[in-house]
Amino acid sequence: MTAKCVGCGLHWNVSIYQKIPRSGYICPHCESRLRAGETLPNKQADQSGRPQKMKGAKP
Ligand SMILES: [Zn+2]
Repeated sequence: MTAKCVGCGLHWNVSIYQKIPRSGYICPHCESRLRAGETLPNKQADQSGRPQKMKGAKP
């Protein structure tokens, strides 16, 4: 299967047995960047563009 990396937005081949966190898949490339203390540009854009639909929504 493939998983979309939340860091670079690319699709990577991953094993179906690989655990993918709910926050999203991080490819080895971005993982090393994160470990180096860098931020992922794609992730920042995702956070700023997050819709706030929970506010005021009633069940
Ligand atoms: Zn990536």
